[in-house]
Amino acid sequence: MLVIMSKEAGEGEIEGVLAKLTALDLHGHLSRGMERTVIGVIGQTYPELRDTLELLPGVEDVIPISRPYKLSSREFQPEDSLVKVGSLTIGGNEVVVIAGPCATETEEQVMSTARAVKAAGAHIFRGGAFKPSTSPYQFRGLGKEGLRMLAQARKETGLPIITEVLAPSDVDVVAQYADILQIGTRNMQNFVLLEEAGNSQKPVMLKRGMSATIQEWLLSAEYILARGNRKVILCERGIRTFETYTRNTMDISAIPIVEKVSHLPLIADPSHGTGKWYLVAPLALAAVAAGADGLMIEVHPNPDQALKDGAQSLTFDNFARLMQQVAPVVAAVGRKLAGTL
Ligand code: PEP
Ligand code: MN
Repeated sequence: MLVIMSKEAGEGEIEGVLAKLTALDLHGHLSRGMERTVIGVIGQTYPELRDTLELLPGVEDVIPISRPYKLSSREFQPEDSLVKVGSLTIGGNEVVVIAGPCATETEEQVMSTARAVKAAGAHIFRGGAFKPSTSPYQFRGLGKEGLRMLAQARKETGLPIITEVLAPSDVDVVAQYADILQIGTRNMQNFVLLEEAGNSQKPVMLKRGMSATIQEWLLSAEYILARGNRKVILCERGIRTFETYTRNTMDISAIPIVEKVSHLPLIADPSHGTGKWYLVAPLALAAVAAGADGLMIEVHPNPDQALKDGAQSLTFDNFARLMQQVAPVVAAVGRKLAGTL
C-alpha cells in the first residue's frame, strides 16, 4: 500500500503517518520525489487499513500496490534510482562497463587485467575472491588474499571494485575492500545474506537466480531495500532453459521488462549469460540496445589457462574490440558511455 501525501503536507503530517504505521505494527518507508512524497507501507496490510490512513491529515490518496514487490516498483518510485559509485552514476543516462576476471588467481593476472581493461575504457574492475562453485572440487577462490589483490588494482588504476560476497559472515570483510557487493545467482534467495548486505549500506549488485522469475528476483531486491539500503543494482546473467548450445539463455526481454516495472538500474552479464566468448559481444550489444544501464564482462590474460570460466572470458584484444563496438550502439540509443564526452 502507498500513502501519497498532498503537496502541501508538512513534516508534522508526514511524521503523523509514520507514527500511525508504527502504532499499527507496520513500517513506513519514506520517499521524497521531485513531485510528491510517498510513504510505502511495509508489513501485513489489510483492506480496511486504507480507510484508516486516508483519514490522516496531509494524506491525498492511499493506493493498494498490485505487485507483491513494493520498494523496487515504479509505482513506489516513478523516477529511476541512481546509484553512485565514486564518480560514476549507475542508472542514469550513462552506460557503465564492469570488466575483469571471473576469479582472482595471481597478482600478475589481476594487475595485468586491471591495466588492460582500464586502458580499453572499462569503468569498474571485477574479480571473484570468494567463488561459488557447483562442484567442491573446483577452484573456490583466494579469499581474503584475493580481496587484497583487488584493493591493489584499485590503488593503481583508480577503478572501483566489485566482488562477490558468499556468506552473511563475510559481508563485513568484503565491504571493507569492495565498492560494490555482488550477490551471485546461487545466493539470490539467501535471505539472511540479502539482509546483511542491506545492513552494510554499500551498493549491492544482485544477480538473477538462474531459475528465478523476474518477480522472485525483485522480491529478493526487496530484502535489501527493506533494510534501508537504496543502492541496489540488478544483474541479468542468463537463465536455465532446455537449450544446450549455450551455458544459459541470456534473457534480453528481462531488460525492458525490469525498466518498465522497476526503478532499479540493471547491468547485463553476457559472459555468464552465454558461456561462450564468441557470443559475448553480440549479446552485449543487444543488451545495450534493449536499455541495459551497463555491462559486466569477464576478461582474462590467457582464457585457455583460466582457473574459472575461461570459455566465456575475452582476451584483452577482444575486450578492447568490444568496447569499440559498444560505443556506437550506446550513442544509437541516445546514451553515452560513462566518462566520454
Ligand atoms: C560471477 O560473476 O563470476 C559469477 C559467479 O556469476 P553468477 O553468480 O551469475 O554465476
Ligand atoms: Mn564467472
